This record gives sequence, structure tokens and C-alpha cells, in this order.
Amino acid sequence: MSDRTDDDARPHDIDDTPTVSCSRCDHEWSLEYELDDLEVGNQSFEQFALDHMRHTGHFPDGVSPWMVACRRCPEGERFLSEGPARRWAETHARHARHAVEIEHEDDASVVTPE
Ligand SMILES: [Zn+2]
Ligand SMILES: [Zn+2]
Repeated sequence: MSDRTDDDARPHDIDDTPTVSCSRCDHEWSLEYELDDLEVGNQSFEQFALDHMRHTGHFPDGVSPWMVACRRCPEGERFLSEGPARRWAETHARHARHAVEIEHEDDASVVTPE
């Protein structure tokens, strides 16, 4: 008894091809071509996510951005990892002496000027 499904011939057996999908756009992209150039998978993914955000106003699936927003002025940024988000918040808190809120998924913290 053969259980093979020959009609499902999508090239999905390559494990290390990073893909990005977006359920809001109902679309999926392969990052393979960017990897060839950059050889840094994570960076090309982050770059893609930021570009997508810039063009469409939302992040693709699997991205949970770190949102940094000042409580006193309209300054704010979005980051894909905690390090740069915290650095931005601490820098702004120190220079502008504003309290800055960092939000990630259900977590929120505030960086206050010392
Ligand atoms: Zn999208
Ligand atoms: Zn501020």
C-alpha cells in the first residue's frame, strides 16, 4: 500500500531555505536569494521584516517586534531584538530625560532617566 501523494510536489523538502509568510498579505516569500548575497540569514530576515513594515504598515508572521515609545514626545522606534531596543530607550532617556516605554508581546517595561 502506497501512501505517496505525488500531487503534492511543492519544493518544500529543502529545510534551510528561510521563508517569510504574512497571513495579512496571504503571501509567502523565500529569502534564499538574499542569503546568497549576504550569508547572514537572520539579518536578511530582519531587513525583510523592516521593509515589509515600511511598505505595508505591519510585520510578517513570526515577528514580534520590540516597540519603543517615548511617553513625553512622539519619538519611537520598532526593533526586532531587545538589544537595540533597549539601547535606543536608554539613549533617549538619558539625552531627552524622558521616560521611554518598551513593549514586547505581553511584556512592557519603562526606562526612566536617572
Ligand atoms: Zn504583509
Ligand atoms: Zn522623548
